[in-house]
Amino acid sequence: MINTFRIAAIAGDGIGKEVMPEGLRVLRAAASRFGFALELREFDWASCDWYAQHGQMMPDDWKEQLAGVDAVYFGAVGWPATVPDNVSLWGSLLKFRREFDQYINLRPVRLFEGAPCPLAGRKVGDIDYVVVRENTEGEYTNLGGVMFAGTEREIVIQESVFSRHGADRVLRYAFELANSRQRKALTVATKSNGIAISMPWWDARTDEMARQYPDVRVDKQHIDILCARFVLQPQRFDVVVATNLFGDILSDLGPATTGTIGLAPSANLNPERQFPSLFEPVHGSAPDIYGRRIANPIAMIWSGALMLDFLTQGQGSGRAAHDAIVRAIEDVIRSGPRTPDLGGDAHTEDVGQAIANQVKEF
Ligand code: ATP
Ligand code: MG
Repeated sequence: MINTFRIAAIAGDGIGKEVMPEGLRVLRAAASRFGFALELREFDWASCDWYAQHGQMMPDDWKEQLAGVDAVYFGAVGWPATVPDNVSLWGSLLKFRREFDQYINLRPVRLFEGAPCPLAGRKVGDIDYVVVRENTEGEYTNLGGVMFAGTEREIVIQESVFSRHGADRVLRYAFELANSRQRKALTVATKSNGIAISMPWWDARTDEMARQYPDVRVDKQHIDILCARFVLQPQRFDVVVATNLFGDILSDLGPATTGTIGLAPSANLNPERQFPSLFEPVHGSAPDIYGRRIANPIAMIWSGALMLDFLTQGQGSGRAAHDAIVRAIEDVIRSGPRTPDLGGDAHTEDVGQAIANQVKEF
């Protein structure tokens, strides 16, 4: 039996349109080498070009158009010169996250040999962890309001909302992930010394979950010192779990310590597979470099590897393809060709081709 993966490919805006073809090139190479089939459906919506023609980011029937896909492979969205960022983001990516209940945002952080690490004296292996961010609730709600607006008495309130269901499912995911890894070390971001209602509650949910995972070493750390340690002692970390806001901060800080945003991948997961999950580079549409074919496609390519791993639940051909892609990425960062963000002068497609060729040879 041959596995077939049905993938919706949405390039989006800016360099999303440049890195997507390289991601697809590598996926096709992996499919032919590792014996699975890809059924690709490409869409031009969820982009600011589409907005210019239709006055909205996506068609009303976007969900129907995605019916039956196993995953969404996404480039980048945003073109602030024509559409405000909050409009493009809320009209596309955030709809996927919410309507497909992608409550896990997963960001692996790794230092590669050959990447320009901004931290002094760090070597490969010192930075190798995964940030698990809660992706649907917490600090990012639209609950609140402004009173006495425009006066000296102006007061603004914005609520955070945590549910037992929401906290427990992200904690469970993180404990499971930590338990499956060699070091079995889980860091939990908190701020229970300053945020005196929700964060002690989050700590208590952590403690209760921890009882079911006696092999996992749990370390609760306040977000401020945790940020400092991402910089000063990154080797301490294995799996890091955080609420929406803290996870947002950590999952940008982590990749920043590994040299270039052009390498960082992410997965927005609905682990129960009730809805498609979405795989995308951490970086945005980068209008400042669009059109020059110098965008690094590795974040896009690595996100594709995460997608294959997730679709096969880390088994068989998907896992083998994932591992081959990651090894090809390691080789290309070490030996070139490299895009300018890694100090080279190669073009986007040179890097994509080099990685695809290596994958075929494994
Ligand atoms: P977001 O869209 O998430 O709000 P942003 O628009 O603030 O992000 P990006 O589009 O990610 O930021 O770009 C930030 C900087 O990183 C820019 O200078 C951009 O050129 C650079 N950059 C982003 N992605 C890449 C890439 N794949 N290769 C090289 N440089 C990149
Ligand atoms: Mg942007």
